[in-house]
Amino acid sequence: MIREILHRVLLSIDRYRRRRSARALVLAYHRIAAVEVDPWELCVTAEHFAEHLDVLQQIAHPISLRELVQAHKEGRVPDRAVAVTFDDGYADNLHTAKPLLEQYTIPATVFVASGYVGQKREFWWDELGGTLLRLGALPEQLTLSINGEDFQWALGEAAEWSEGEYQNFRGWIVDGREAPSLRHSLYLELHQLLQPLREVERRKVMDDLRAWSGVELDTRPPSRPLSLDELPSLAQGELIEVGSHTVTHPFLSALPERLQLDEMRRSKAFLEEHTGRPVTSLAYPYGNYAKESVKSAREAGFDCACSTVVDCVWRGSDRYQLPRAGVENVDGEAFAKWLSQMLNYEMIT
Ligand SMILES: [Zn+2]
Repeated sequence: MIREILHRVLLSIDRYRRRRSARALVLAYHRIAAVEVDPWELCVTAEHFAEHLDVLQQIAHPISLRELVQAHKEGRVPDRAVAVTFDDGYADNLHTAKPLLEQYTIPATVFVASGYVGQKREFWWDELGGTLLRLGALPEQLTLSINGEDFQWALGEAAEWSEGEYQNFRGWIVDGREAPSLRHSLYLELHQLLQPLREVERRKVMDDLRAWSGVELDTRPPSRPLSLDELPSLAQGELIEVGSHTVTHPFLSALPERLQLDEMRRSKAFLEEHTGRPVTSLAYPYGNYAKESVKSAREAGFDCACSTVVDCVWRGSDRYQLPRAGVENVDGEAFAKWLSQMLNYEMIT
C-alpha cells in the first residue's frame, strides 16, 4: 500500500516536472513515396511531406538530432524543437526527401541498415509483400522449412487474384483486425515467423518462397535500398546526417549481447567509411531493444539511440532510449493538428 502511494506520488512529481519542462519531438519517417501496397504505412507522399515541412517551419523549431542531443547533454531542451529522422535507408530518401528538405532548409537524420546498401534485393518485408500481395496467381500449396520446423499452407481461392480483387485489397493495412484473405493471413504469419530470425536463415526462407512463387527477383524502383554510390550523395552537404540502423536490421533482443554490439560496430564503421562522416546516432530496428542493447549502443560509441516509444523528449529523457513519433501520410492541416497535440503530449504512465 505504502509502495503504491509512493509510486503515485513519484509519478505526479514526474508529470509536474514534465509539464513545466520544455519539450522537443523526434519524428520518424521511413519513405517519401507513393506505392500501391503499403501494409505497414511506411510511405508519406512527396506532396504531404512538403506540407509537413512547411508546417514545421511555421509552428515548430526544426533542428538536427545532433543539435538536440547536444542541447540535452547540456541540460537544456529547446522548446518545440523537432528533429526529423528516417529509418532503413530507402533510395527515395535521397531522390525525393533530400531535395524537399533542402528547399525548406530542414535537417534530418537517416538511419541506414548498412547490410542492405548496394544489395540487389529489397528489404525483406517489401520482398514478402511483393511476393504475396501482388496481382497474379500463386501456387495453391506452400511448404516451407523455417528454422528446422516444417510449415504448410493452402491458399484456396486466394491463390488466384483477379485485377478487381487486387484493387480491392490494395489499401489494406496491418491494424490488428482479421486478415481479409488467406494471402493476407499467410503474409502476416510469415512476417511474424521471419522477423526474429537471423539474416542467413531469413534469406534462405525468402529464397525458397521466391522459388515457390515464381516471382522474379527485382528491386522495383520505388522500393529499393540506397546503392553504394547513393549513400555518400545522401550524406553530402550540411543538412543530412547518416545514422546507424545496424547491419542486418535484426530483432536485437533475440540476439546475444556480443552480436548486438557487433551489429552496431560494423554498421557504424561501414557508414563512416562510405560517407566520410562520423556516425553518432543509432535507431533500434523495429524499435525493439533490451537492456544489453542500450549498453551496447554506448559501448559502440554512439551519442544517442532512438526507440519507437511515442513520447516527447524532455530533460529527463534517456539519450539511449530517445522516444520518437511515427508520422502518417496525412495532409498539412492534419499534420499541424497532430504536431500541436504531440508537443503538448502527456504520456499516460
Ligand atoms: Zn527499420
